[in-house]
Amino acid sequence: MTGRRGRQADDNDGTVLADLNEAQILAQVLPPGGAPAGVLVGPGDDTAYLAVPSGRVLVTTDAMVLGRDWLDEWSSAADVGTKCVAQNAADIASMGGVTTGVVVTLVADPQTPVRWARDLSYAIADACAREGIAVLGGDLSSAPAGVRMVSITAVGEVSGAPVLRSGAQVGDVVAVSDALGRSGAGLLLLQGDPAARGPLVDYHLRPTPSYAQGPAARDAGATSMLDISDGLLRDADRIADASGVRLDLRSDALQVHVDALAPTVGDAAWDCVLRGGEEHTLLATFPSDVVLPDGWRAIGTVATGSGVALDGAAQEPGGWDHFHG
Ligand SMILES: [Mg+2]
Repeated sequence: MTGRRGRQADDNDGTVLADLNEAQILAQVLPPGGAPAGVLVGPGDDTAYLAVPSGRVLVTTDAMVLGRDWLDEWSSAADVGTKCVAQNAADIASMGGVTTGVVVTLVADPQTPVRWARDLSYAIADACAREGIAVLGGDLSSAPAGVRMVSITAVGEVSGAPVLRSGAQVGDVVAVSDALGRSGAGLLLLQGDPAARGPLVDYHLRPTPSYAQGPAARDAGATSMLDISDGLLRDADRIADASGVRLDLRSDALQVHVDALAPTVGDAAWDCVLRGGEEHTLLATFPSDVVLPDGWRAIGTVATGSGVALDGAAQEPGGWDHFHG
């Protein structure tokens, strides 16, 4: 097998997918590596074949589409691959689980540079390797001119029962596992200047959620959980709706997240914290007598009623909706 260095020579040769057959493309874009434990058959056969010690599997999928979910103006292939892994692994974490494997589909205009596909593939492999996730296989399909889509399906396991959206109880504490609004703020900076850089832009391009917070919350007794992918208010509303309760958030508890963004995005900081998507910080509810796991911070309480309130005032969910803008 050829290592990364061996492939550097053709980095800039302008080869596009249409110049090669499928086997040649795969030889160019797939990183080397053996199958990890639990993978009885990995890439190369018709399907992967897994050993699942717990006997139960979590499955999720997320797709990213050029022009909708990323722009080549500011996202590299490596950014896209890294983010797509994060979206999936955060979904598994939000059930209290650990991601064990992914399958990857690339659907692309034949004029897509081979280098782009290879950078994507290597970034996915790197992001997975950092988390002990196996790349189990994938698919490559051609698409009409200008179309490029990456889809990842992840499998994972959870020890015991997964944490659902529907378990929040009146009196629970509402808490988040990490910062809020970073990705939304990074996107805002890129929209102002596609060449913008810095920690917020980095987080938008390559989110690095702490996946371990999912199992930690589960072990601590979280009653409901999800990852913030479409904005705090919208995702909090999903827990409220699924659980038949109201989530009362407190602005004094959110202020620290606003203060962290304000020097960079000014007045938009509150909007980023409340409505910014693609954050992948976990939002969960815990019984009030639970000691929150390290890193978790309370931002409100669960009450009778419906929807989401901030300092007692009902909030429109806002945030991102795929088909409604
Ligand atoms: Mg999710």
